[in-house]
Amino acid sequence: MSSNPVRAEHGDDASCGRRHHSDVGPGAPPAALEILSRTFGYARFIGAQEQIIAHVAGGGDALVLMPTGGGKSLCYQIPALLRAGTGIVVSPLIALMQDQVDALRQLGLRAAFLNSSLDVDQQRRVEQRLLGGALDLLYVAPERLLTERFLSLLDRSAIALFAIDEAHCVSQWGHDFRPEYVRLDILHERWPTIPRIALTATADTPTRNEIVARLQLEQAERFVSSFDRPNIRYRIVEKQSPRQQLLRFLREEHPRDAGIVYCLSRRRVEETADFLCAQGFNALPYHAGLEARVRQAHQAEFLRGEGVIICATIAFGMGIDKPDVRFVAHLDLPKSIEAYYQETGRAGRDGLPADAWLTYGLSDVASLRRIIDSSEAEERFKQVELHKLNALLGLCETTRCRRQVLLDYFGETGSRACGNCDTCLTPVECYDGTVIAQKALSCIHRTGERFGASYLTNVLLGKADARMRRFGHDRVSTFGIGTELNAEQWRSVYRQLVAAGLAQVDIEGHGGLRLNRAACRPILRGEQRLDLRRDPDRKRAPAERRASAAVPTDAEAKALWERLRSRRRALADAQGVPPFAIFPDSTLHELVAYRPRNREELARIGGIGVVKLERYGDAVLAELGAHEAEHGRPAHLPPLPAEKLRSERERERERDA
Ligand code: ADP
Ligand code: ZN
Repeated sequence: MSSNPVRAEHGDDASCGRRHHSDVGPGAPPAALEILSRTFGYARFIGAQEQIIAHVAGGGDALVLMPTGGGKSLCYQIPALLRAGTGIVVSPLIALMQDQVDALRQLGLRAAFLNSSLDVDQQRRVEQRLLGGALDLLYVAPERLLTERFLSLLDRSAIALFAIDEAHCVSQWGHDFRPEYVRLDILHERWPTIPRIALTATADTPTRNEIVARLQLEQAERFVSSFDRPNIRYRIVEKQSPRQQLLRFLREEHPRDAGIVYCLSRRRVEETADFLCAQGFNALPYHAGLEARVRQAHQAEFLRGEGVIICATIAFGMGIDKPDVRFVAHLDLPKSIEAYYQETGRAGRDGLPADAWLTYGLSDVASLRRIIDSSEAEERFKQVELHKLNALLGLCETTRCRRQVLLDYFGETGSRACGNCDTCLTPVECYDGTVIAQKALSCIHRTGERFGASYLTNVLLGKADARMRRFGHDRVSTFGIGTELNAEQWRSVYRQLVAAGLAQVDIEGHGGLRLNRAACRPILRGEQRLDLRRDPDRKRAPAERRASAAVPTDAEAKALWERLRSRRRALADAQGVPPFAIFPDSTLHELVAYRPRNREELARIGGIGVVKLERYGDAVLAELGAHEAEHGRPAHLPPLPAEKLRSERERERERDA
């Protein structure tokens, strides 16, 4: 890190957040609020941040469950600044430590990391700074933390708190399991009076209980947030020609955005990346079959670049800490709702609008069933996996709000229809599909339970070819009885029958459909009614229905946006840090929305604290001024947000009064 002129000025004073910790107790948020505004540049806490910070700053242990993008980092960063000593942050995400530390240094904080990427000299220097009390925050990999050398170093240092990030890594049942995490209970044993805060975005109860038990957090206060991600728009579409569908989605909605495209196989990852590159996108492959060096380079380019698309298998996963991922597209069905939620959750961490877009068809169901079936796992485990796959199909074929289905699944019942998913935006019509279902199911039966949806559809439509004639299926009783629907609609019916558990995809044959007899019987006998959905014609869903784009659409605003973005890029490159460490996108949006004209106005913008104002205020004002000289000032601008720092003084006065 280059020497930093501002640090010298602000060194240890309030702008870096270090306050008189003696006056901090559970009910002492004003100092926390001051750090929030002066250092981080935000006017208000969100969600439970304030309570969590007060609790931990007061010396309490905490377990924090918050969705991605919920603002977990501040929950340990601010208490670390409020308390004496260094906040020790345990994180498994070695590749991201550098970026996290860069972002903190941009705020004028004294941060460092220790992991295997440093040479011995660099490590010694960081250790010296820790011993000398010259660090606000130290990020450390778990295997490093657990060395006797480091533990004894901690014995000789002043520690503000321990933050255990990605705490679900202690769970042996999860796919992010890290054996070192299990040994982190040593922190409590060795330093019982130092507060610990464990954080995760993994929602399920078994994982939560495992974290508590293994990290000895029985006494910790639990802070559980809603897992809703309101800024993510969920859409699930029928798979027709997936690449073309993806291309249309990207061209129409995300022509210059960073995003992730998940595919099931390595080959498909490669093909998709090649295809997108040929179409003029900057797309990179990522899967476990690539050399580690290549994977790292691609991840780094995704994190640091702008508008990079990663095509990946699920190997590209945990801790994709990039705040401005604008879309997550699935070209294949994920394994479960949990996986879907985790993968889509990587979009929109910055709180700005983002898309989760999935295309699926019955062939996906067959592939996934084959994967489950061929795994080495115990039968019991396979049953659980199948059950999870079925729950996901239920989500795909639901007529309800997708978000409600997701939140219900995670035990958050009682939410309202969200207005920001495809089923809310284009409501799905239902009809009494009993007779349709009878026809579709009988057709499976009459043709011997061996054929897939396309073939069955042709039988129902009376479209015989040589193969069908050879099998004699042009003479079965269901031949030609389904002309009331078209081929696309019949395929939709078959997907719904599978999702409803009436038919299943046979994995031994070639994805033929079989009947689930017990479930079918009442329908075939007419004893039970079945409602089906009529798939809306999404191709014609108007694009302008998008509530608010993450990038301004008006030409003048867009020009300013691009101007600010390229200046940010230049500032970032000059220091070798990622652009979001300079300013998050949300700050650029506010600049475009409010057009501050001087430093006082600039200080009201979210994400601009004292240090950033000092460092980049002139550059930002120069860009805004140059843009205004060229384009003029828009006639209708919203009133600026209240002044963060003044309101803080007012609060202080109120407190004293
Ligand atoms: P998480 O770790 O939970 O995924 P982060 O801590 O990375 O989330 O925060 C997500 C985004 O929200 C970041 O861009 C951060 O700067 C922003 N943020 C956090 N707290 C606030 C706040 N109180 N006001 C405005 N923005 C915030
Ligand atoms: Zn909805």
